[in-house]
Amino acid sequence: MLSITLPEEMTAATLPGDSTARIEARRVPQPGHGEVLIRMKCSTICGSDIRCIYHEHLGKGPEGYQPGMIAGHEPAGQIIKTGPGCRRFREGDRVIVYHISGCGVCNDCRRGYMISCTSEKFRRAYGWQRDGGMADYLLAEEKDLVHLPAPLSYADGAQVACGFGTVYEGLEKIGVSGNHAVLVTGLGPVGLAAAALSRKLGARKIIGIDIIDERLKIARDLGLCDEVLRSGPGNIADVRALTGGHGVERAVECSANAAARATALRATALRATRKWGRMVMIGEGGGMEMTPSPDMIHDQKTLHGSWVTSIWKMEELVERLVHWNLHPADLITHRFPLEKAGDAYALMASGRCGKVAVCFDEELKS
Ligand SMILES: [Zn+2]
Ligand SMILES: [Zn+2]
Repeated sequence: MLSITLPEEMTAATLPGDSTARIEARRVPQPGHGEVLIRMKCSTICGSDIRCIYHEHLGKGPEGYQPGMIAGHEPAGQIIKTGPGCRRFREGDRVIVYHISGCGVCNDCRRGYMISCTSEKFRRAYGWQRDGGMADYLLAEEKDLVHLPAPLSYADGAQVACGFGTVYEGLEKIGVSGNHAVLVTGLGPVGLAAAALSRKLGARKIIGIDIIDERLKIARDLGLCDEVLRSGPGNIADVRALTGGHGVERAVECSANAAARATALRATALRATRKWGRMVMIGEGGGMEMTPSPDMIHDQKTLHGSWVTSIWKMEELVERLVHWNLHPADLITHRFPLEKAGDAYALMASGRCGKVAVCFDEELKS
């Protein structure tokens, strides 16, 4: 048991939708039946926060942010209080929160994919339709928790909550191994995670493409990609030249942008995938141009869509991260205290960074 006297009020950040973050005081919530109160340790910022909420409240349905909600859907922390009826987790446990709380009884929830829960009434994502991790404390449902083992830091855990889990799922769908050259288009935090996980899965060669020089530099400096290419019209020929004229066996499309360059990157990923190759689409927003006969049919390609992951696969990933000695927090380039959340979101919106995190306690010092 942790004997902590809880304050009545806490600090929290919301996103009004005008390219700022608002710092406010909120009451510290009390956990009800099957709920836990988590002392936040790390809350990372996602591309979707910028795309759908930060500049303007653009998202609809599952991506519809309810104004006034505490932001942050990539939370990790320590349970400091459990409500009645909790079955597995206890005070003191280190946890990651699967970032969507589902109804628990629809087909998608029963598969563990609460991301696509079909209940309009009960599906609520942390940081979107219910309060998220950009606060001193977070109220979560026990069923949404994944145990965070000691070799991983809270910052590692926050990175699993959305980014690494999403990538792991996509890579499992296309199956990446030592037989494969892998192309990653879009080297934001998700693309960098795709490169890092492909490396651990044994990929023979990893090629990354992005338009932003800072991202290319991070991919190269951290040794995540063997080759990096600046986005441009010659990319397909470049990738073929790097793969014996064939193209890559596996492509992971991670560009999260509505601009024309995302459309171009998707076409590049598809066309630079070799005959019988597989591609997975993870990056959201924007469009895609494809001519079925030459781009897909005649080359016998497989194209997967992949949305986040299931909670059991997130547990599996956490276990493998420990075996692989892979620390997702290595992709965090900037850490901010909660009071400076506005600076954190502004930096993430600029794209001139790796992953950006709001941190608390020991995670702020590391
Ligand atoms: Zn996310
Ligand atoms: Zn459901």
